[in-house]
Amino acid sequence: MVVGTVREIKRHEYRIGLTPQCVQAYIGRGHSVLVEKDAGLGAGFTNEEYLEAGAQLIDGAAEVFKAADMIVKVKEPQPVEIEMLRKDQILYTYLHLAADEAQTRGLMKKGVKAIAYETIEPQKGLLPCLKPMSEIAGRLSAQEGAKYLEKPFGGRGVLLGGVPGVARGKVAILGGGVVGTNAAQIAMGMGAEVTILDINAGRLEELDQLYHGQLSTLYSTQANIDKVLEESDLIIGAVLIPGAKAPRLIRREDLSKMKTGALLVDVAIDQGGCFETSKPTTHDDPVYTVDGIQHYCVANMPGAVSRTSTLALTSTTLSYGLAIAGKGVEKACKEDNALKLGLNLYNGKITYKGVADAFDLEY
Ligand code: NAD
Repeated sequence: MVVGTVREIKRHEYRIGLTPQCVQAYIGRGHSVLVEKDAGLGAGFTNEEYLEAGAQLIDGAAEVFKAADMIVKVKEPQPVEIEMLRKDQILYTYLHLAADEAQTRGLMKKGVKAIAYETIEPQKGLLPCLKPMSEIAGRLSAQEGAKYLEKPFGGRGVLLGGVPGVARGKVAILGGGVVGTNAAQIAMGMGAEVTILDINAGRLEELDQLYHGQLSTLYSTQANIDKVLEESDLIIGAVLIPGAKAPRLIRREDLSKMKTGALLVDVAIDQGGCFETSKPTTHDDPVYTVDGIQHYCVANMPGAVSRTSTLALTSTTLSYGLAIAGKGVEKACKEDNALKLGLNLYNGKITYKGVADAFDLEY
């Protein structure tokens, strides 16, 4: 099969769908690989590295779209890319179709076979191609939080680790899942005093067993949220209710209960945000202030660490990609239910219930 990857053209997207190591793996299985020239530069992979791995470098995305049987990307195709796709071509990337009717209809019209990273599900609730991005966003949230607590960045001038004789900074994390646990690990590593709040008693028990004595756990009740609002220097929002908008856990009137210069980081912003005053921001302009409280609400946090994110993403997408290229979509999906769940579109038909339901389309 001819496998191709192109430079991502969505704003502030520097990741790439295939690393040179992935190229080697595809070539080792007898495929040929086309890479758009300079496509890897944003993630620190040079044209020479792709050539050494055996790829053919191609000038411009159009030629890659024309010649490849399977396109491997990171973000959903933009309108000009949808135009370049053709019937029966395999598209393997993040799609998030249920939130994008124009893209869904565009891809249906093209008749592609589209496999979405985010719906590949080997076990109920296990999403291996989403998890690394939550890990990265969680770790970054503590790192960015520490930065925006610094005075020159608009914060209250608190060092999370404190120093001998001076108290440590206090961090509260709403939601103890993948994002929340990774945020806690970094905040604890910096020496902060960390509290995680969750509604899931089982999860609180696991966290207590894992980190007993290193962090505190609290049920996510209004009274406990009020308590951490008053005490924390940094609050990280990391909640998720699968398939629903994030619950609003901090209202605008609550901001007045916070310490002057305290910071809110809303990682759940991609699901609408868990603070009433959250609105999506970008890496160009990540923070804004409401009633004296700084908010950091970047919707695509992993994009800031494009190299780490590319390596983490491709390490989970590669094995599924090799199965698709080796067997073809039909056989690969028949033999692996995880990939069958990943298939969102097949020759003009929607094959994922959540997407069909979102737009009242045939499934
Ligand atoms: P997860 O399912 O692993 O964890 C979510 C946790 O939230 C669960 O433990 C759940 O019990 C808890 N929760 C639900 N309602 C709660 C409430 N009212 N109070 C406290 N806890 C509550 O999900 P995750 O992978 O950690 O993702 C968390 C959020 O981060 C999601 O919205 C996800 O889309 C988002 N995310 C954002 C970025 C970004 O770049 N901004 C990147 C990755 C993930």
